[in-house]
Amino acid sequence: ESCRCPFPSVCKILWLNPCKFSFFRVMIEENYTKERKIPMSDCIFCKIIAGEIPSATIYENDEFKVILDRFPSGEGHALILPKNHVPNVFEIDPAQAGRAYALAAKLARAMKEVLGFTDMNILQNNGPIAGQTVFHFHIHLIPRREDDGINVTWTPGEPTDEQIAAVQAKLTNLI
Ligand code: AMP
Ligand code: ZN
Repeated sequence: ESCRCPFPSVCKILWLNPCKFSFFRVMIEENYTKERKIPMSDCIFCKIIAGEIPSATIYENDEFKVILDRFPSGEGHALILPKNHVPNVFEIDPAQAGRAYALAAKLARAMKEVLGFTDMNILQNNGPIAGQTVFHFHIHLIPRREDDGINVTWTPGEPTDEQIAAVQAKLTNLI
C-alpha cells in the first residue's frame, strides 16, 4: 500500500517511514473509501442518467448513455456511462467493461469521420489518485489534434531486467 499521507516529506525529514502519521492515514483512507462507496443518490452521473441533471447525450441504448463532457479537453470529448451505478474498473462486471469498450471502438471511428480529427486517447480513471473525480465508471473519448495542449504522459522508468522479472513473477497467472 503506497503512502497517501499529505506530509510524506515530514516523515522523510524525521527519518520515519511514510505513513507514520496514522491519524492522517486513517482520515485519508476513510475519505478514499467514502468516495469509492458514494451512494447512487449522490452520484452526478446517476442523476444525469435519471434525467435529473441535464446533459448533452450523443448516444443511448439500454445499457449505456454517452454524453459530452461538460468541461471538455476539446471538441468532441465524450463520456461513456453505464446506466447502472458501478464505481470503477475494480467493481464493474468484466463483460460489461467489454461492451463499454466495444461501444468506444464504434463511436471513435464514427466521431472521427464527423469531426475530422485523426487521433484519440481513450482514458478511464479509477480512484482519486488516478484522477477519478466522478465515482461512477466512465470511459473518456478524447479526440486528439496537432498542438491541442493535452498532456497524457509519465516519466519512463528504467528498471533492470531483474526488476522486470520480479514484477513479472508477481503478476503471472493471476487470472
Ligand atoms: P474523471 O476525472 O475521470 O472522474 O472524469 C470526470 C469527468 O466528468 C470530467 O472530465 C468532468 O469534466 C466531467 N463532468 C463533471 N460534471 C459533469 C457534468 N455535469 N456533465 C458532464 N460531464 C461532467
Ligand atoms: Zn452513479
